[in-house]
Amino acid sequence: MRYLSKPLKEIHDAILRNEVTPLDLVKEGLSYVGKDNNNAFEYICNKEAIDAVNKLDSSKKNSLLYGVPIVIKDCFSTKSIPTTASSNMLSDYIPCFDAEVVTRLKNAGAIIIGKTTMDELAMGGSGTSGRKGMTYNPWDKRRKHIIGGSSCGSAAAVSSGLTPIGIGSDTGDSVRKPASYSGLVGFKPTWGRISRYGMFQFASSLDHVAYFTRNVFDSAYLLNVLAGHDNKDFSSGYEDVIDYTKDLSKSIKGKRIAVIKEVLDCCSPKTIECFNKTLDQLRVEGAIVDIVSIDEKILKAIYPTYFIISSSEATSNNANLDGLKFGSRCEGNSFEEVMINTRTKCFSPLIKRRFIIGSLSLSKTHREELFVRAQKCRRLIVDSFNKVFEKYDFIYCPASPTTAPLFKGYNPRFNGDVNVADNYLAFANFGGNPSITIPIGFENNMPFGGNFTAKPHFDSELLNVASILEKHTGLMNLVKENE
Ligand code: GLN
Repeated sequence: MRYLSKPLKEIHDAILRNEVTPLDLVKEGLSYVGKDNNNAFEYICNKEAIDAVNKLDSSKKNSLLYGVPIVIKDCFSTKSIPTTASSNMLSDYIPCFDAEVVTRLKNAGAIIIGKTTMDELAMGGSGTSGRKGMTYNPWDKRRKHIIGGSSCGSAAAVSSGLTPIGIGSDTGDSVRKPASYSGLVGFKPTWGRISRYGMFQFASSLDHVAYFTRNVFDSAYLLNVLAGHDNKDFSSGYEDVIDYTKDLSKSIKGKRIAVIKEVLDCCSPKTIECFNKTLDQLRVEGAIVDIVSIDEKILKAIYPTYFIISSSEATSNNANLDGLKFGSRCEGNSFEEVMINTRTKCFSPLIKRRFIIGSLSLSKTHREELFVRAQKCRRLIVDSFNKVFEKYDFIYCPASPTTAPLFKGYNPRFNGDVNVADNYLAFANFGGNPSITIPIGFENNMPFGGNFTAKPHFDSELLNVASILEKHTGLMNLVKENE
């Protein structure tokens, strides 16, 4: 019997019936993780997971996470467990503390069975730039299609049925896009709702803790566990933590949903066909759906604006990885030489390219023209979307224009030719909006998703609309097991 391909509630019920023990679950998880053929893991917690399950506190038995094996993106600090962010720069790093997310998951009884691969330092969208190379999409056994990144390993682990929950991070779309490519729910709550203490910073003004599940209920439940203020992260919010599962079935009658025409214009016919079907389903539920327009100039500015701001913040945040304060160290005759040799050898070309762009954007001579201008653009972009939110409760569009692209020819570089549907999701990082991807269809046996975004702090309402649509599509608990 396989348990870990099931929803949290079913796993929990099996534990309560004494049909399976947490130790059985961890053994099941580790055995499947050991056979993973998607390159989803940086580190497998063989010993640590068994130790943790043996010490599990049975007073936590009411938690749906009690004894449940989970995986964590390798950019979250895990005490005494290697944490590399898939970068050679951090190949020897073993943190002496847990990220707040990790602490809260452990407190709820979850057992970490692996740290997952990612695009190096969370920069990238292909799942190819980490130190261990490509992560594969379980839906394509010929291994031709990407799974997307940067949270590629967590997506691969959850969609291949190894664990019901994979923690990731989302700075531009790093959970919501791979969720679309792998048939998962990918949720990024409001900025500040979940503490980022112990999560490696990429671009702090855009970074969110985010995660993959296989159904909306599990996402809502996980927010109950993770949300709430943390004194160690001054950017975490003070709002009360409510029960995010309680309103999932509430009627969405009269809710107003805006679909952005310019995003639809860039999508494949099959994507549009399935997407339109979901619009009918939302209307059946009494939602009011309108197609609205946003100035194409604004939409096309999202990616370059994101690129300048995120590269600038990344350059500053990662300046401590110099081989002296942190990181692997290469030889040199002076501290400058040590730094230059270390950073030259230990970062991949993609990262160096971003640091060069970031340094240029922050330099005295180019700051006004690049960084300050990008910040002004960010404001204009957020204002444009906020205008839509004045009249509508949700923005709903395809999460990606097509199914997962092929590795071959995939070019993450910015060449001026922006596909609006491929890059618009970052608007929710600019505004800190909660945003969720759920599966809506298949093309040639590969999945793709739709994405709802709401006003900041409307996480509960967002989960509600996603849950209602999920019931109509029936596309939940999708798993593509390893063969
Ligand atoms: N693909 C985007 C990038 O390359 C998003 C990354 C992310 O959200 N971490 O920057």
